[in-house]
Amino acid sequence: MTSIIDPNTIGKPVRPRRHVRTLTGYLPEVDASGKEKWPKGEEKVWKSGMRSLDNNVNSITKSFVNHVQTSLARQPYNLDDLGAYQAAALSVRDNLLVNWNETQLQYTRKAPKRAYYLSLEFLMGRTLDNALLNLGLKDEYKTSVKSLGFSIEDILDKERDAALGNGGLGRLAACYLDSSASQELPVWGYGLRYKYGIFQQLISPEGNQLEAPDPWLEHQNPWELPRLDVTYGVRFYGHADRLDDGSGRAIWAGGQEVLAVAYDVMIPGYGTKTTNNLRLWESKSKRGFDLNSFNAGNYEKAVESSNSASAITSVLYPNDHTLVTLNMFGKELRLKQQYFWTAASLADILRRFKNMGKPLTELPDFVAIQLNDTHPTLAIPELMRILIDEEDLTWNAAWKIVTNTFFYTNHTVLPEALEKWAVPLVEHVLPRHMQIIYDIVILIYLFLAVEKKFPGDRDRLARMSLIEEGQPKQVRMAHLACIGSRKVNGVAELHSDLVRTTILKDFVEFEGFSKFGNVTNGITPRRWLDQCNPELSALISKTLKLQKGIWLKDLYKLEGLLKFTENKTFRREWAAIKQRNKERLAHHVLTTLGLTVNTNAMFDVQIKRLHEYKRQTLNILGVIHRYLTLKKMTPAERKKVNSRVVFFAGKAAPAYYIAKLTIRLIVNVARIINDDPETKDYLTLYFLPDYSVSLAEILIPASDISQHISTAGTEASGTSNMKFCLNGGLLLGTVDGANIEIAEEVGESNVFFFGHLTPAVEDLRYQHLYHPIPIEENCPALAHVLNQVSAGLFGDGGVYEPLLNTIRQGDYYLLSDDFDSYIEALAMVDDAYRDRDEWIKKSIRTTAKACMGKFSSDRAINEYAESYWNIEATPINGNK
Ligand SMILES: *Cc1c(COP(=O)(O)O)cnc(C)c1O
Repeated sequence: MTSIIDPNTIGKPVRPRRHVRTLTGYLPEVDASGKEKWPKGEEKVWKSGMRSLDNNVNSITKSFVNHVQTSLARQPYNLDDLGAYQAAALSVRDNLLVNWNETQLQYTRKAPKRAYYLSLEFLMGRTLDNALLNLGLKDEYKTSVKSLGFSIEDILDKERDAALGNGGLGRLAACYLDSSASQELPVWGYGLRYKYGIFQQLISPEGNQLEAPDPWLEHQNPWELPRLDVTYGVRFYGHADRLDDGSGRAIWAGGQEVLAVAYDVMIPGYGTKTTNNLRLWESKSKRGFDLNSFNAGNYEKAVESSNSASAITSVLYPNDHTLVTLNMFGKELRLKQQYFWTAASLADILRRFKNMGKPLTELPDFVAIQLNDTHPTLAIPELMRILIDEEDLTWNAAWKIVTNTFFYTNHTVLPEALEKWAVPLVEHVLPRHMQIIYDIVILIYLFLAVEKKFPGDRDRLARMSLIEEGQPKQVRMAHLACIGSRKVNGVAELHSDLVRTTILKDFVEFEGFSKFGNVTNGITPRRWLDQCNPELSALISKTLKLQKGIWLKDLYKLEGLLKFTENKTFRREWAAIKQRNKERLAHHVLTTLGLTVNTNAMFDVQIKRLHEYKRQTLNILGVIHRYLTLKKMTPAERKKVNSRVVFFAGKAAPAYYIAKLTIRLIVNVARIINDDPETKDYLTLYFLPDYSVSLAEILIPASDISQHISTAGTEASGTSNMKFCLNGGLLLGTVDGANIEIAEEVGESNVFFFGHLTPAVEDLRYQHLYHPIPIEENCPALAHVLNQVSAGLFGDGGVYEPLLNTIRQGDYYLLSDDFDSYIEALAMVDDAYRDRDEWIKKSIRTTAKACMGKFSSDRAINEYAESYWNIEATPINGNK
C-alpha cells in the first residue's frame, strides 16, 4: 500500500485554523493600545472567578432535570438509575467544564512551563464520586437526587470503571493526575482512548480464568469531550530517503497514513479550581473508505483500510511484564500503538508551543515530557525527526533540545520485562526512526563519547549499545530512553539503587550519578481514603478538629492521630469503622457471588496482578499449610486458633499459563476448604473475580492485614501497600520496594517482615541452578504441601504439575527458601491479632505514621515538579 503524500502534512493539524471571535457583551473589547473595555459588571465577575454555576440544591435539581429532558432526551417520569447517573454526571460535568475552560485560558495567558505525562495506561476507575468530592458538592447532590426519589449510592454504582490500564503503572498515572491538579500544577496527560479496556475476568466452573471484552464505552461516556477538530496525521511504513546535501535530513514518504483524533477528559483538583486535561487519542482512517473498491462492489476491501486504522486504538494490551508471548501481528500492532500515540502527542505539544511564538531552542524552557516507562520512548527519535527533517535544525541542536526535554521513569529491573523491538520490525514500520536510532548509536553516543571515555572497552560498548546483537537484532528501549533524557528515576529507594547498580550501571559510570534519581511512588488520599472510606475520613476530621479540606492536602497532619492511640473511645470508634467496612465487603461478596463471609474473622487480603514474582503461589501454599495443620488438631485445639478469611483478587495475562494455574489452584482450594465442616470456622478463602479500582475501594478499607510478598528486589515499589496502610491495614511483606520505606516510617514493630534480602537472591538462584538440594531437604513443610496438591487433595493433581514444578525445579522466585519464614511471620500476625487492643493501636499508628505524608502522591508529584520538570504552581483566578 503506497501513495504519494506530501510529507509536510504529517504531524500538522489537518484542518485550517478557524476565524474565532469573542462573545460580545461578556468580555472586554481591546483597543489598539491594548486597553481593555469591559461590559458593565462583567470584569468583577470574571476576575473573581465567579463565572461558575451557583451550586445550591435547587439549582442542582434544576440542572439535573434539565439534562434528563434535553441532553438525554428522556421523560422525567420513567427514569432508571442509569439515566439518573447520566443526568447527574452531565450536571457535574458542567462545573468541570467551566473550571476546565478557565484553567486552560490561564495557562495560555500566563504561559508557564508545562509538563506532559505520557502514559500508555491511565487506570482511572470511576469519576462521578471523585468529581463530587473534589468539587465539594457531594452533600448537595445527595440531597438533590434524594428529593427526586433516587439514592446517590445507587447512582454512583451505575458507573463503569474506566479501566485503561493493567495495574500499578496505570493507577500511578491516575493518582499523579489527581495530585497535579490538586497542587495547581500545569500538567496534562497523554494516552490512548482504547475502545476496550483491560479484559473482564470470568472464572469457569473448573476454576480457569476466562477473558471477555470490556465494552466500557457501551453507554455514552459523559466524562470525555470528543475534539473532532483536533486531529493529526500519523504515518507508518513507506520509505525514508536521506538527502545527500550533508544536512542529515531525510524525506519519509509513502506507506499508511492514519488520523489521530483527540478526546479530552477533565481532571479536577481537590478544593481548587484547577482542572487539568487528559488527552486520549483515537485512531481512524484518514480517507474514510476506498471509493474505487466501493464503486467496484468490493465493500470489504473498501472498508479494509478504515478497519486497519481503527484497530490501532481498539484494545489495551493486557501484558505488563512480558510481551514475548505476542505473535508477529500482535507485536506490530503494539509498536504502531506506541508510535501513533507519541507522534500525535508530540505534534500537539509542539503546536501549542509554537503558538507562543518562541524558537524551538527554547522548548526545554517551556516543556517537560515525562516518559512513564519505556512505552513512549519512540518520542525521542520522533522529536529528532521533526527537528531535523521538518524544522531544519542541525543534529547537535536537535539532540540538545531532546535531551533537555524528556525525563524517564523506570518501572522494572526484571530482565524479561525490559522492552526490546526487533530491528527488522522497526525498520519496516518506522524506517526513518530506525535510521535515527542508528545515527544516535554512531554519531552522538557510542563511537564518539563512550569510545573517548573508555577507549578500547569493546565489551562496554556492546553492553551499552542501543542495539542488542542476535537473531534478529533488537533495539533496547531502556537504553534509548536513558540517553535521550535529562534525568532518569526509579520508583522507590531500593529500586532506584538497583537501576543504578544493575541495568543502567554503565550509564551511571558514563553520564554521572546525578542524572539518576529516585521518586518514591505515592497514592492520592482523596480516592484512597476520603472516597473509599468515608467513615474513617469523618472520624479523622472530627478527632483532629480539622476540616478534611486541610488534612487531605497535607497528609503529614495525620501524625496528630498518634496521641489518640491511648484514647479508648477513639480506639473503639476506629475498630467499629473497620468492622463496618468488613461488613460492607461481606455484603458485596453476598450480592455478587452469593457467598456468606464470616465477618468475625481476621481479613487477610492479597490483591494485585497475578504474577510469579508477586508470589500469590506462596500465599495459597501457605493457606494449604494452615489447612493441613488445622486438620491435624483436635476440636479443642482448633478453638484456640485465630479465625482467618483470605481474599485474593487479580487478573493474569491471558497467555500467562503458570499464573492462570495459580488462579485455578486458589479457586479449587477454596472449594474444598470452605466446605470442610471441621475447619471452615477457622479458615476460608475467596477469589473475587475481575479485580478493578472499584473492587479495590471496597476491599482495602476492610483489610486487617494485607500481603506484599514479592521475591526481594523484584517489586519496584508497589502502591497498594500504601493504600492499605492509609486505611489502617497492617502489612505482611518482604523487604522489597516501598515496603521498606513504609516500615521506616511506621517502625518495624508495626510491619511483619520475612524472607531473604535482595543481596541473597542471586546466590540462592545460582544454587538452585547449579547445586540443587531436593525440596524435601531444603523445605520439608513446603514439600509436604506440594505432595498433597499432587496427590489430588484439591482435584486432579496432574493439572497443577507445571506450577508445582516451577518450585521443585529451579525455583526462580525462591518459594522454598522463604516458605518457613513466611509461615513464622503468619504465626506472628496471629499472635499480634489476639491482643485486639494492641492491634488497633498498631492500626492507628499505621495510618498516622506510615502515611504521614510521604506516600501521598502530592509529595511525589511535587518532587517531579521541583527536581525534574522545573514547573511551578499556576493558581487559577478565584481559587479558594
Ligand atoms: C493500586 C492498584 C494496583 C497496584 O497494586 P500493587 O499491589 O502495588 O501491585 C493494581 N491494580 C489496581 C486496581 C490498583 O488500584
